[in-house]
Amino acid sequence: MTPCILCVAITGSVPTKAANPAVPISISEQIESTHAAYEAGASICHAHVRNDDETPTSDPEKFAALQEGIKAHCPDMIMQFSTGGRSGAGEERGGMLSLRPDMASLSVGSNNFPTRVYENPPQLVDWLASEMVKYEVKPEIEAFDLSHIHKAAEMNRDGRIPGQLYIQFVMGVKNAMPADKEAFDFYVKTLKRLVPDAQWCAAGIGPNQIVLNEWAIAAGGHTRTGLEDNVRWDKNTLAPSNAALIQRAADLCEKYERPVATPSQAREILGLRTA
Ligand SMILES: [Zn+2]
Repeated sequence: MTPCILCVAITGSVPTKAANPAVPISISEQIESTHAAYEAGASICHAHVRNDDETPTSDPEKFAALQEGIKAHCPDMIMQFSTGGRSGAGEERGGMLSLRPDMASLSVGSNNFPTRVYENPPQLVDWLASEMVKYEVKPEIEAFDLSHIHKAAEMNRDGRIPGQLYIQFVMGVKNAMPADKEAFDFYVKTLKRLVPDAQWCAAGIGPNQIVLNEWAIAAGGHTRTGLEDNVRWDKNTLAPSNAALIQRAADLCEKYERPVATPSQAREILGLRTA
C-alpha cells in the first residue's frame, strides 16, 4: 500500500483561543504545535499566520519567522503556506511566495463559505499560479467543488500548473460541498479520468474531519487534519492538540494497513526537492 501523507493544518484564519485554547496563534506556539504534530506523523505543515489580536494576516515577515522555526525543529518537514485565508485581499495573498516554501495552497474557483463569498477571480488565480511557477512552489489545489477539479486539470494541461497535480478535496464547509460519499467517490473517479497521474488528499470540516480522514485513507489518498478545520475531539470534548488529531489519523492508517509516510517519502511522492 502507498504510504499515506498526513498534513496538519495548525491554525487557519478562523479559529480563536476562545474556541479552543490549543489553537496556536503566536509564531512560537505554532512552531511548538507543529513540532509535536511532526513527532506524531505529520509530514506537511499547512500554515496561516495571525496578528497578536488573532486576526489573520499575510505578513511575509511572519511567514518567514515560522518557516525558519519549523526548519530548525523539523528539518525535513514540508512547509505549505496558505494563499487562501484572506479572501478579498487580492495579490497580498501571494506576497510570501518569494520565501519559496515547498508548497502553497491554491484555490482555483470561488464558492460560498459559512458567512461570506470565498472570492477567487480568474485573474488572481492565474497570477498566484504564475508566482508559484516563478518561485518553484508546488501548489496544492483546494477543491471545494467539482468544477475546481476540472479547472485544475485544465490548468495542468495548458501548463499554468506544470508537473504532477496535487489536489485536496475539501468537504463539509457550510454553504459549499457537504461531506457526501457519492460526491467524494465521484471526485476521485473524475480526477483519475482527467489526470491519471495526479495525487490527492482530502479534508473534512468540523465533525466531518474524521469522516474524510477515513474515506481518504481507505481509498488510497492522503489526508489532512488539524485545528484549522476542526477544534473538537467529539461532540462534548475539545481536541487537545494538533498532535492528538494527527495521532488519530495515524491510528486510522493502521486500521487500513497504510504506512504513514515519512517526510522524505512524502517529498518523493509529491516530487519535491529533498530537505
Ligand atoms: Zn488553510
